[in-house]
Amino acid sequence: MNNKIASTNTYSFNKSLLLMLCLLSSYCWLVGSASANQPSDYSRPNIILIVTDDQGYADVGFNGSTDIPTPHIDRIADEGVRFDQAYVTFPVCGPSRAGFLTGRYQGRFGFRDNPSINPMEESAGLPVQEEIISEHLKKINYRSMVVGKWHMGVRPEYHPLARGFDEFYGFLSGGHRYFPSKYIYDQIDKKPVKTWYLTRLMKDYERVDSNSDYLTDDLSDQAVAFIERSNKQKGSEQERQPFFLYLAYNAPHMPLEATEKYLKRFSHIKDKRRRTYAAMVSAVDDGVGRVLETLDSLNISDNTLIFFLSDNGGSLPSMGENGKGKYPGNAASNGLLRDGKGSLYEGGLRVPFALRWPAKIKAGIDYKPMISSLDILATIVGQTGLTISEQRPLDGVDLVPFLTGKTTGKPHDLLFWEMTERSGLYVVRDATIKVHGRASEDEVEAYNLIKDLSETTPLDSIHDVKQTQVLQQRFQDWQSQMKPIVFPTLQAPWKERK
Ligand code: CA
Repeated sequence: MNNKIASTNTYSFNKSLLLMLCLLSSYCWLVGSASANQPSDYSRPNIILIVTDDQGYADVGFNGSTDIPTPHIDRIADEGVRFDQAYVTFPVCGPSRAGFLTGRYQGRFGFRDNPSINPMEESAGLPVQEEIISEHLKKINYRSMVVGKWHMGVRPEYHPLARGFDEFYGFLSGGHRYFPSKYIYDQIDKKPVKTWYLTRLMKDYERVDSNSDYLTDDLSDQAVAFIERSNKQKGSEQERQPFFLYLAYNAPHMPLEATEKYLKRFSHIKDKRRRTYAAMVSAVDDGVGRVLETLDSLNISDNTLIFFLSDNGGSLPSMGENGKGKYPGNAASNGLLRDGKGSLYEGGLRVPFALRWPAKIKAGIDYKPMISSLDILATIVGQTGLTISEQRPLDGVDLVPFLTGKTTGKPHDLLFWEMTERSGLYVVRDATIKVHGRASEDEVEAYNLIKDLSETTPLDSIHDVKQTQVLQQRFQDWQSQMKPIVFPTLQAPWKERK
């Protein structure tokens, strides 16, 4: 397939695909309604998006982890699809989330770094002109909840309930401590530093106390309760609302904190930081298991579309964010991938990613071509028949036709990243070659990812130079469509309250 990214062709492609899928969906509905045994309307699946925070590529069983078993997360991949080369759009939390929630490269709307969490900064959030997954799904009568980390702005206009969600339980900032007994603040304020890690949780707009002694367990409780609540609706199948659950765990993001229940599973890990990190991942895995068991017990697993991914690469113990050692880093493993969170090498961008939808996609697929977290919304749009504004075309593609074999070729010819505000660095890759450059310089380094997954040996042949120049040009074309940053970053000085 030709380039579908960042062009008007994207929209035309999506539009014709949507038309085709609408017809197909109607057909499926008719077939479904003709049989009493068909569980529900396949064009309106329940949707669960499970996101972990800073989890390493190699820290799931389905990517080969041996010291941290994740049997429940692995179930999603085993009963659906494991993606070998799944990318997020930025190597830290905020911009990555803005990307997959809108289905668009976040640079298109200037979300180019983590925004300030200062409530006095009016622009610090996901621009309200953009539409996110929950806002799209609201148009077709979905009921949505976000559980956990929001990070898309702390002001009322950026609150989840102003962005298409019907329910919210969690915290607005980009990080949080894990023991609720320590939560003492009712608002995010400048001092002491990081009060936002110790705020009481929010249920919709109210501050509430947790019923659990561990945040990760609390979030899992809330997710299960939402699924059960959604399944109790009265009325015919057409009257009942399908649900969208965005389960955004902040684990295993720093700080490293776990309860004895999970720590005692990892006495074989001698490094204390790695042991605590493993316990945090294990708590998430238990939660995912409870979500899957709930779907089973309610007999709705078949027509529930689940995505699982980490929001960026694992934060490494030796490097800290940005590779500068400014922070102690975390205790993740990205396996053979170079570097981690904050880096444009594979360890920062390539993440564990799995998808399950038994009604439409067979079990046990190991999908090799590169995909993007931008494909999450495009897949939802493609499968539900939603229409997308011409002013805000999506950058992703519907993955389902690729997974069912209805479409040949690959979802993406090219993917792009840039972190101008942090380092001036950018990368662009095709199926084979990845080019690293800096906006202010002509010189680049390139790697063959098929032969050199760990990005250790820069290419130097004439052939590779030509291909590199083509990719540089494509990057410049893409970059010209991006907007400057629209808010002060997390590191910016605070505007004072008046
Ligand atoms: Ca993160």
